[in-house]
Amino acid sequence: MTDYQHAEAFCLMTYRSDDGTEEERIWNSRDGVTPFVIPLRSGKTAQHADWHADARVVEYAPKPGERVFVDLTMERALALAETNIKTWKAQGMANLPSAKQMAKEYLRPGAPDLIEVPACGQLDCQHAPDGGSHPVATS
Ligand SMILES: [Zn+2]
Repeated sequence: MTDYQHAEAFCLMTYRSDDGTEEERIWNSRDGVTPFVIPLRSGKTAQHADWHADARVVEYAPKPGERVFVDLTMERALALAETNIKTWKAQGMANLPSAKQMAKEYLRPGAPDLIEVPACGQLDCQHAPDGGSHPVATS
């Protein structure tokens, strides 16, 4: 019995590195799919582990610096595409699609994105849209 379309809706999930030495708890901020495999900040690859321990916490309030799953936005898709194209160009690849074309590929309905909660705590923060420095939260 669930009011959600996806089993992992609003769940806190554990991702563990393949060598078992690192793990990260990541919250899914929406009723949407999440990847099985993600890159950890260390660069290691991690898989969704301990599925039985997934905990649905609809009102969870992630703290600045925690990572969460959100819906991919056009802005982020474009930024990812530009980064990838830059990398491929540096590797000598030719005949690459435009960033816009690639971004459209990435931007399937409900496509997940993994972002770090900014200092202000707003997942849809517009303070630093270009990924530049973010004003530090003051109290
Ligand atoms: Zn902000």
